[in-house]
Amino acid sequence: MALTFETVIGLEVHVQLSTNSKLFCPCPTDYVGQEPNSFVCPVCLGLPGSLPSLNARAVQLGVKIALALGCSVPRVSRFDRKHYFYPDLPKAFQVSQFGLPLAEKGAMPIFLGGLKKTVGVTRLHLEEDAGKLLHGTPDGRLSGASITRVDYNRAGIPLAEIVSEPDMSTPMEAREYVLSLRRLVRYLGASDGDMESGSLRVDVNVSQKCSDGRVGGRVEVKNVNSVRAMERALEYEISRQREVLLSGGQVYRETRHWDDSNGSTRGTRGKEEAQDYRYFPEPDLPPLVIDDSFIRAVEKDLPELPWEKRERFQVEWGLSSEDASTLSERLDLAEFLEETVAHGAGRGSAANWVKTEVLRILNETGIETDALPFTPRSLGALLAKVDEGSLSNTAARGVLEVMGREGLGLEEAMRKAGIVPGGVKGDLLTEAVREVLQGHPEETALVLSGSDSSGKKRKYLQGLVMREIKGQALVGDVSAAIDRELDLMKGFRE
Ligand SMILES: [Zn+2]
Repeated sequence: MALTFETVIGLEVHVQLSTNSKLFCPCPTDYVGQEPNSFVCPVCLGLPGSLPSLNARAVQLGVKIALALGCSVPRVSRFDRKHYFYPDLPKAFQVSQFGLPLAEKGAMPIFLGGLKKTVGVTRLHLEEDAGKLLHGTPDGRLSGASITRVDYNRAGIPLAEIVSEPDMSTPMEAREYVLSLRRLVRYLGASDGDMESGSLRVDVNVSQKCSDGRVGGRVEVKNVNSVRAMERALEYEISRQREVLLSGGQVYRETRHWDDSNGSTRGTRGKEEAQDYRYFPEPDLPPLVIDDSFIRAVEKDLPELPWEKRERFQVEWGLSSEDASTLSERLDLAEFLEETVAHGAGRGSAANWVKTEVLRILNETGIETDALPFTPRSLGALLAKVDEGSLSNTAARGVLEVMGREGLGLEEAMRKAGIVPGGVKGDLLTEAVREVLQGHPEETALVLSGSDSSGKKRKYLQGLVMREIKGQALVGDVSAAIDRELDLMKGFRE
């Protein structure tokens, strides 16, 4: 019988917390683009005799993520030293949380094609980041040789490491998990979650269970720098491990390095003995005690979570799964939508306009919603007019364009766009219809004689009327006015 396989995926995600200073010293964290080694002090350089002191804001943000993930936050956690030697780690140990992490046992929902799946979260702990190695070639005299410099500006930046349960079984699920976690930390204001700049880093653990009972070793893949790279790395590893098992070989537990340029992984340390980091409690920091009032204060600060918002948009607002997902992706966009509704727009039309017109502007310009040239108040009032039928979608788009281009309020923009208060109807509409029909005798004659069987000419005339009145009437009203005029003309003929 042919062998079948089951893939087991777990992810370790490092999130850079949005604090102003580092985890154990007052050095600033906005080091990107700064002179190397300019944001350092004796603490983050690990100089002898220096003493760390814990950043309360980092603890707050870590607890915030933990509570959003439904983790339990024990009263006491602890920092440990994780020993290993590497040039980007000046102390030769990293201060992390091993035995008593900040939080444990949570879960996060992910959505695949509208279906919900829950991925367990094993733990969340705080730790400091390492420095950065800069590989390059030195000046002309030493040309040919390559050197590595080290920049400690990043050393000591606060990270939250979030370890998932091995609950995922496809690259697609892993992708949704990472995107969902990124959305969450952005909602919480806990991190910018930017993978390109390294604010969010993913280590992948993947293994295979074979139908004959064999279990492959767990392979950790490092150096995946984008969601796409993670998916590719997983696809590559899954087929590599299956091939090994199919040929009767063994998959060893090891760490492998993803090479994005040639799309493959390679072993970095060979067959691995269990690493011994010789963890022990950091003697320079007291145990971290978190009391109930701290938890309650953070809890009070939690916004509606992205998956809750998504579900509400779908269940209460009646939006499609896809629209609910698009509109809850960004907190600022979701809030813009809700305010637009609060200012008079119907949920359906507001959702439609925000996901098309507003999102288009945001994507084209790369701005945030608070920099939009119109407010939810004016968009809400504009859409209320569309909803009550006094303004067509076309006319409203014209008004929105004027509001956007010239930064005008609704009333002024409507005047500028040539909008008649209350819309074009009655004699004004009749006049416009007459003008168009008289101006296009050939098409009108065709329609009158009944030889416009496809209705194309009629549609064309209707479009001209709409343009004439700048879309300020409902299609049905324009159509009825054309009917009336045509009937009159028939009457004159008979
Ligand atoms: Zn420092």
